[in-house]
Amino acid sequence: MAPCCPHKMIKMEKTLHLKSSRGRKVRVVREHYLREQVPCYSSLCLASCDNDGKVLPGDLTHYVVPDVGVVLDYQEILEFRELQGIILTQTACQAVHHCKGRRQYNRLRNLLKDPRHDCVLFANEFQEFSFCQRENGESQEQWQTRCVYSAAVWYYNHLAGMMAVVMITENQDIINQYSNLQSGVYVISVQEYLQNFWLELRTAHELYRSIRQALQEKESECTEKEFTEHLPAEVLEAGIKSGRYIQGTLSVNKHRAQTEASVRTEGLTNKNTELSSEVLVYGNKNRNRAVHGDVVVVELLPKSQWRGKVSALTEGQLEEKNGEDIQNKPMPTGSVVGILQRNWRDYVVTFPPRESPQSQSRNSQRILTVPWDHRIPKIRISTQQADALQDHRVVVRIDSWESTSLYPNGHSVRVLGRAGELETEVQTILIENCIHVPPFSDAQLREMPVNSPEKPWKVDPSQVAERRDLRESHLVFSIDPAGCEDVDDTLSVCSLAGGKLLELGVHIADVTHFVAEGSLTDLEAHARATTYYLADRRYDMLPAILSADLCSLLGGVDRYAMSVLWELDAHTLAVNKVWYGRTVIRSSYQLHYELAQALLNGEHAEVPELTQFVSSEKDAKLAQLKQALEMLTHVARHLRAQRDQGGALELEGVEVRAQLDNEKNITALVPRQPLEIHETVAECMIYANHWVARMIQEVFPHQALLRQHPPPRQEFFSQLVESAKSKGFAIDTRSNKALADSLDKAVDPQDSLLNRLLRMMATQAMSQAMYFSTGAIPQDQYYHYGLALDRYTHFTSPIRRYADIVVHRLLAAAIEVESGRSPAKALASSKELEELAHHINRKNRAAQQVQKVSTELFQCLYFKERDPHKDQCCVANAVIYAIRDNGVLAFVPLYGMKGPAYLKNREGQVLSAGQDGHCEWQSGSVRRYSDCITTMSSIGTTTFTLFCHITVRISVQSLRCHADSVNLEVVSNRPHRSVTLHQTESHSRSQLVQEVVRLAEEASQQAQGKATRLSKLSKEEQEFCQSKSPNLYLLLEEIRELSLMDPAMCNHSLEIVMGSK
Ligand SMILES: [Zn+2]
Repeated sequence: MAPCCPHKMIKMEKTLHLKSSRGRKVRVVREHYLREQVPCYSSLCLASCDNDGKVLPGDLTHYVVPDVGVVLDYQEILEFRELQGIILTQTACQAVHHCKGRRQYNRLRNLLKDPRHDCVLFANEFQEFSFCQRENGESQEQWQTRCVYSAAVWYYNHLAGMMAVVMITENQDIINQYSNLQSGVYVISVQEYLQNFWLELRTAHELYRSIRQALQEKESECTEKEFTEHLPAEVLEAGIKSGRYIQGTLSVNKHRAQTEASVRTEGLTNKNTELSSEVLVYGNKNRNRAVHGDVVVVELLPKSQWRGKVSALTEGQLEEKNGEDIQNKPMPTGSVVGILQRNWRDYVVTFPPRESPQSQSRNSQRILTVPWDHRIPKIRISTQQADALQDHRVVVRIDSWESTSLYPNGHSVRVLGRAGELETEVQTILIENCIHVPPFSDAQLREMPVNSPEKPWKVDPSQVAERRDLRESHLVFSIDPAGCEDVDDTLSVCSLAGGKLLELGVHIADVTHFVAEGSLTDLEAHARATTYYLADRRYDMLPAILSADLCSLLGGVDRYAMSVLWELDAHTLAVNKVWYGRTVIRSSYQLHYELAQALLNGEHAEVPELTQFVSSEKDAKLAQLKQALEMLTHVARHLRAQRDQGGALELEGVEVRAQLDNEKNITALVPRQPLEIHETVAECMIYANHWVARMIQEVFPHQALLRQHPPPRQEFFSQLVESAKSKGFAIDTRSNKALADSLDKAVDPQDSLLNRLLRMMATQAMSQAMYFSTGAIPQDQYYHYGLALDRYTHFTSPIRRYADIVVHRLLAAAIEVESGRSPAKALASSKELEELAHHINRKNRAAQQVQKVSTELFQCLYFKERDPHKDQCCVANAVIYAIRDNGVLAFVPLYGMKGPAYLKNREGQVLSAGQDGHCEWQSGSVRRYSDCITTMSSIGTTTFTLFCHITVRISVQSLRCHADSVNLEVVSNRPHRSVTLHQTESHSRSQLVQEVVRLAEEASQQAQGKATRLSKLSKEEQEFCQSKSPNLYLLLEEIRELSLMDPAMCNHSLEIVMGSK
């Protein structure tokens, strides 16, 4: 049907009563056109509505129409993806816009847009037969109710009575008034609705109860003011423009959350030139109900009230970047006068235990809960389950923070479990990092191709016709860690033109063939942005049928690939020609690193794929494979040398690898001679990423997704330079090449850890690599500092990174454009791409954070079980890598952990070492120098020097409401006696994760009885156990831990180590 066909329209006048921004009431008369045809978005439609886009299914028992009050107050319930057949009326949506503001309105719009939610918008006020004229004397609320009811009736009639319609409301009067008017249209309460139709959706019931409780409490709020009122938006705006106020994002100091926060100003909108980029907000009154992350407006206090940040050292010093030193001198200090945007998220809180003094007011059922994140204030929750929730971790949302209340009010969303239990803690980590990884839904899985013994998946002849078929012409193989099941990259190399030319090929899983843009699977992958690796599990970005099967370039089977083929001069290796395109491949060999290296070294090695051949044929094939590996090595050496000349950095070496058994469990971590083949594969991947970056950037100069790594700020290198100097090494940081060269030379033959520690410091000083849209920054900033390449992107891991999926689509579009066709789908604008890049960057940081925090969780769970004074596991060798005022930061290689070790305690005692090196607490003093720290007591003077080896005792500091932390206590200023390298190191590390998992399982079995365990798993628990194969994760994790990587840096450094595999 043509969109503009002349339907009958009736002109109406609609009177609106609006409130102006100054609070004046205005009456507006608008012309309002009613139509006969307004889309119903139902698949049952018989009236040929113009139902474009999402439609409600026809096989439901009913559709549900929430009234205005429900949409306003219970929107979170409507956000449950399980609910089906939801019709949101225009009347309700407008009310949300009007009463709740843009933020909540946008959430509603996103809900409507998101195909994963089964809800549609009905423009009821434009529909001739559902529109209701407001009557004289009718209140706004009454009229709105009539409109919504009339819409419900319209649906019932429009669908010819084929679908029951349920209107839900929280107003008993409405139920009384409307429930018996028309058969087929029911009016019930939200509670009845949930009980009748969604009894199993326990979390929705809980959420409903907690919202209702919070609403009731809000009505009975007292009126005494605790805080100054916020100024109205227009006053704030004018104040910012005039320079009187400053706008910025509030950031609370984690270590002094009660008192210290600061506002980072955005841009240079303020005219106050005296200001640096930061304003201190001291104390609760000045913070005036702003929460960490909110966009606030501050007014400066008179200079006499300015203060400095506190410089006393507390735990967590290792988080600080060097260069950002703490200063005591007074800085601009202000107070919050208004809030422009609340950035509240879901918070995990802990309910206080019974003994707590709070329980006296338990009758009121308003409980002060403590957020897991130190920076968030206590949240007051109204609940009837206070007793049951003691010592539990619960997800809550903040509803409001009135000026009459010392604390924000919130409601609970769902219960995670008892604090301290493994599953509870893992879920806490995920929620605190805004990571939502539900199991893939049935609807998503229905989009997936089938591959079963009865119905094996085969390549499609029409696809073969469109693709370049490399199955017969090219020897394709993969090289991965042993046991790897998600093979997303393969290689090929061959000689052309009688040896004058070489052809190098990189063939990547063609994920975008299976994941259509905008499909449910695509939306989910986009939302996740990456696969998440935790210490004991992983959450995949794509369903297993793709990641472990059809997209995995396994040996001996036909697979679709996205290929880059370079034609190189055999002698100079200069690029003659590059071909990009979709292919069909069949990998001949699925090699692992050791096997490939053994072949290269001419050692005897059994290639599993060749066992079936007779010896003459086998020898020929083996010779062919060896030759290919040799050619590959030759090319990679050349490419690496090219980048080395440009200044590519190798920040740390890989020193262990994980050995996996048949079930993909880590059986051992084996120290390994760095194999050249690792670098060879890595180099080819870097090359492919680089050439794809060139291609998409050249074809779409303003709309390509690339990855930059900005050069570091020189001042961040000061700690590295000073530390190296204390050991007699000069580190030159003027360029990446100089840095790489000088790091290579900084080797102490007596202490292999030194070089690793220096590389760690270099890594910490670096900025983080980030995705960006080429339209957003000038071309001279595209540079990748770590890899020394002018353009770089991610193309080689589409199974586990969404950026690569985007890049595959861009490449496919670029190929179309190059061949003179226009791309099938419109490209994302630079602005959209920039937003996407921000989203992926954010999710990557979250992924790194959960990786780090989950590792720390396992470390704490491991040591919590042990008596630090009896168990030998708790005493270990450590190396001092930084000096602080009252202690040192130490690294424990055995467990790959870092932490502060205090030399002065709260009682003012200091640690002194006796003749044998054994340390004890004595009264005395401490003195810090640039490369050492000394303690003086009656025993004598003890010096702790940078990079010296000491012995520490590891214990766990338990914080009930927050994450536990590891505590290092210096036992001796000499190295631990039983220092044996790698063997013990690897042994303990893998044991740690295994043992913690075993203990957690035992504990839960004891608590619940093994038989009931499975059935008692809540939906959330099942949801969070998606996958328990941590193979790749652990491999990466070992590299990170043992090379002392800062997790914030882990991404691009892995790129360097692993070549973006
Ligand atoms: Zn219709």
